[in-house]
This record gives sequence, structure tokens and C-alpha cells, in this order.
Amino acid sequence: MKDLIERAASDLVNSRYAIALTGAGISTESGVPDYRGPKGIWTLDKKAEAKAYERYELFLRDPKGYWEEMLGLKDAAGVFYGEVRKAMPNPGHYALAQLEELGRVKWVITQNIDGLHLKAGSKNVIEYHGSIHRLRCPSCCSRFAFEEVSLEKLPPYCKCGGALKYDVVHFKEPIPFDVMEKAEREALECDLMLICGTSAVVYPFAGLPRTARLGRKPAAKIIEVNAEPTPLTHDGISDYLIQGKTGEILPEIVETLGSGRFKRIGVG
Ligand SMILES: [Zn+2]
Repeated sequence: MKDLIERAASDLVNSRYAIALTGAGISTESGVPDYRGPKGIWTLDKKAEAKAYERYELFLRDPKGYWEEMLGLKDAAGVFYGEVRKAMPNPGHYALAQLEELGRVKWVITQNIDGLHLKAGSKNVIEYHGSIHRLRCPSCCSRFAFEEVSLEKLPPYCKCGGALKYDVVHFKEPIPFDVMEKAEREALECDLMLICGTSAVVYPFAGLPRTARLGRKPAAKIIEVNAEPTPLTHDGISDYLIQGKTGEILPEIVETLGSGRFKRIGVG
């Protein structure tokens, strides 16, 4: 394990453009429930899951009804939103923010909607599935902080005339084009991808490591920090897996980097 942490630190020092991908695994350590784990919100409440599947269609059909439902949510999804609002970053989030500050990681692309990377101080964050802390206009992709929009009259409207929804990408809703494009560009640009707390099986997010590995030459180096081996490990998409908690391993990588033992080799 120590060897792998040293290897990751050395790979980061020698990368030209490293990015990180994160998923539920990094946030469960902050007490944010996941979706399909043993205590996942959908595992515990199948009815809430079924309703969540219809949410985007409800918005399209009846934006007012969508907002009434979202603001009055009492089921597992409502509990989830409540937990997310209270959650605070953990050492894994802070370690990624430090890696950005050290110039070692250029962007974090996350599947999480909890905003914890931004809270931890990361600046370059692509929230692939949106954020619970914002609203978005699906017509023009404008985004608004939750506090700056009045919810007295439902639904709230964008300046362009479109109805606003949560920025969160619901089931069956397309990933906003600006986010999709930016993430794709980063996956093609990076020469190192650090995958933290995600098995990356949900598409199109799951395409990002594959793009970095198979869609560019030379292939990006891919390092996994995950609790268990994933399809990325089994399919040989990742170079190696550092198995364990992101909240423990990522700070160790930062610490190893800070020891100053790693020198860049080569140029670029
Ligand atoms: Zn708009």
C-alpha cells in the first residue's frame, strides 16, 4: 500500500495535466448516503426511486407540480436532500483541494451533487450531475444560486422565459451540454486521471475514463482510489488500484508529495 501511494505521488509529479474524477464513495465518508449501497436511499425506499424516475418528465409536463413535489419531499429522496445540505467536506475533499493548490490537479469532475468539493476549497470543479445548491434553466443553461431565486411563486422563471428546475440532473434528463463538452475535453486533455470513490458504471460519466484511456494517444495513466475493485480494475482501464478509503489515502498522497522527495523526470 505504501508503495502504491509513493507511486501515485510520483506519477502526479511527473504528469503534465492531471484531473480527478469523484463519485459517491468520497461523500459517504461525509455522511451523505449513497443510492444503491446496503443503506442506499433507493435500497431503502423503492417507491421514492420510482417517483424519482418520473421527476424530469413531471418537470417538463408540469413545472409547478414539480416544484411543489420537490419542496414538500418527505420520502427517502427528501431525507437525502436534507442530509446533503448538512454535510461537510472530509479529508478526501480537502486533499483534492490541496492538490489543486499545489498545481498537481487541474480539474475535479464529480458525480456528486452535494457541492462538497467547492466547500472544501477546490475551484475548478465540474459538477457533472449538477448541484443541489443551484437552480438551472434547461433552455439556456443559466444557473442561479438557490438563495438568489424567489420560490414564492412557482415555478420560478429564467430571464429567457424558461422555467427553472434544480440544477441536479434527474433520471432520464440529458447532461447539460456545456458540462458534457467541458468534461469530454478534460478527459482528452489529461495525461493522468485520479479516480476517487466511484466505480464509474453510470454512462455517460463512465465514458470519461475510457476516453482518457482509449481515446487519446498516448493513453492517460489511470489511478483508482476505491474501496473495492471495480469494472475499471477488471477491464484494465486503470493502471493500478489503491484500495481503501479516499479520506485516508488522498491525504497520504498529499503528504508524500509534500515531503519533497519527488523530482520531475523528463520534460513537459
Ligand atoms: Zn434561461
